[in-house]
Amino acid sequence: MSTSVGTAYGPPDPLQLAAWQRQLAGAVPAAVLAWAVEVFAGRLVLGSALGAEDQVLVQMIASAELSIPVFTLDTGRLFPECHDLMAQTEARYGIRIQVFCPEAAAVEALVAEHGPTVFRQSVALRQRCCAVRKLQPLRRALAGKAAWVCGLRGTQSVTRAEVQVVEWDGANGLYRICPLAHWTEADVWSYIRTQQVPYNPLHDRGYPSLGCACCTRPIVAGEGVRAGRWWWEAPEHKECGLHLRVGAAGAVTLARRSGPGASVSE
Ligand code: SF4
Repeated sequence: MSTSVGTAYGPPDPLQLAAWQRQLAGAVPAAVLAWAVEVFAGRLVLGSALGAEDQVLVQMIASAELSIPVFTLDTGRLFPECHDLMAQTEARYGIRIQVFCPEAAAVEALVAEHGPTVFRQSVALRQRCCAVRKLQPLRRALAGKAAWVCGLRGTQSVTRAEVQVVEWDGANGLYRICPLAHWTEADVWSYIRTQQVPYNPLHDRGYPSLGCACCTRPIVAGEGVRAGRWWWEAPEHKECGLHLRVGAAGAVTLARRSGPGASVSE
C-alpha cells in the first residue's frame, strides 16, 4: 500500500479523505495505525491524555513496533495518579512520553486577573483556562505534523457521536486518526484486561473520564461518562477544545445524538 498525503496544513482534499474513509471502513485499530504510519510517515504523533483508550493505543503501537511518538499535555492541575501512570507507561514500553506544559506567563496572567478558580466563573472563562493550559501547548505539540492519533470513540458523549476513523481536524489544521472510533467501552476494557495494559486507578474509583483534578468529579450510577467533567456546565459544553469538530469550511459542529458513553481522558 502506498498513498501520499495530498495536503498537510491546508484544507483537506475531500475526495482523498472520502477514499481513505472507504478504505478504512471496517478496519481493525491495528490496521488503521499501520496505515497511518505509512501515509503520514514521520509526521504522525499520538496525543495521549493517559486515558483508557490512550493506553490501549500505546499498547497497540508498542506491540507492532510502529514509529508513532507519544505526547501528553501537563496542565499543572492533573491528578497525581496521572503522573504515576505516565512513569509506569514509560517503564512498561521503554518509551519517553513528550510532555508539553502551559506557558508560565499566560497562566500567571490568567490567575492574576481572575483568581485560581477562574474555570467556575463562566463557560467562557473555563474555555479560556483550557485554552491557556491545553490548547496552546497542543498547538506546539502538533506543529509540523500532518496527522495525530487520539482515542476518541463515537459513544463517549453527545459531542463525539460522529467521530470517524480518519477525519480532518479543522481546528488544528491536520488529519485526526481515531482507530477506536467504533469501539465500545466493553471493547476497551476487554482489551485492557486481556493485554494487561496499565491504566489509571481512578477509573476504578468512579472516574471514567479524567481531566484536571479541579474540574473532574466521580460519577454516580446512571450518569454519562463525561458527567463528572465540568459538572456545573451543560452537556453540550463539555469539551475543552482539543477535539472540536470543525469541518473544512470552518464550521464547528457538535453532534446531538446521545450515546451510552465510555471511559476517556479528554
Ligand atoms: S480542565 Fe479546568 S483547570 Fe484544566 S485547563 Fe480546563 S478549565 Fe483549566
